[in-house]
Amino acid sequence: MAFALATVSAEPVEAACDGPYQFNVKELDAELYRRLFLSLQSELERFFNIEFSAFCLDEEEMGAYYDVQTNEVTIGIEFFIEQASPPGNINGAIAILAHEAAHSFQTRHGLLDMLKEQNPHRVKCIELHADFLAGGFMGWRSQSFDISEKNIAKIFFNLGDGDSLNDRHHHGLGAERYLSFLQGFRTQNVDEITLSSLGIAYVSQTNCDS
Ligand SMILES: [Zn+2]
Repeated sequence: MAFALATVSAEPVEAACDGPYQFNVKELDAELYRRLFLSLQSELERFFNIEFSAFCLDEEEMGAYYDVQTNEVTIGIEFFIEQASPPGNINGAIAILAHEAAHSFQTRHGLLDMLKEQNPHRVKCIELHADFLAGGFMGWRSQSFDISEKNIAKIFFNLGDGDSLNDRHHHGLGAERYLSFLQGFRTQNVDEITLSSLGIAYVSQTNCDS
């Protein structure tokens, strides 16, 4: 929707989420969820010192993603509910959003190119670094909430890609994602910049590009 920029509109820029099945969490009718998502958005923005253009829900999307062009985080509603099940497991879904927020942080700090440098065909270093940052966020969150690091790390294990390491979109094997998340989780009480540097050191050391 780049053309929309040319038209004069009274709409605030933040409306966005203009995919066919998308809407901004701000427009969510269910007040409980709206509040949950909005407080989560501000928590993530504060922790990573970033600002999304929008936090979107999608009725068709079967995962979650960060859009570098629009600076929007989007999560499928069904996917969110699935990851947040059984009830009480909402931190798993939050950790996935933290991973997407981490991509916004990486973009803001120009880390995407840097992390890809050694092997431009793999996104794995970026993904494992985002897992590390998501771990850092959840570790920070665990100071106020009851969060089991292993339970959430398992979600990253399950989201890992299979053995086809030649795939240039490879996100990392389950075990690699599990460990990266856990390492980040245990890195507590550092600011986001230090956390990120520790994450870069960690993923380099694990040969994320091989
Ligand atoms: Zn990712």
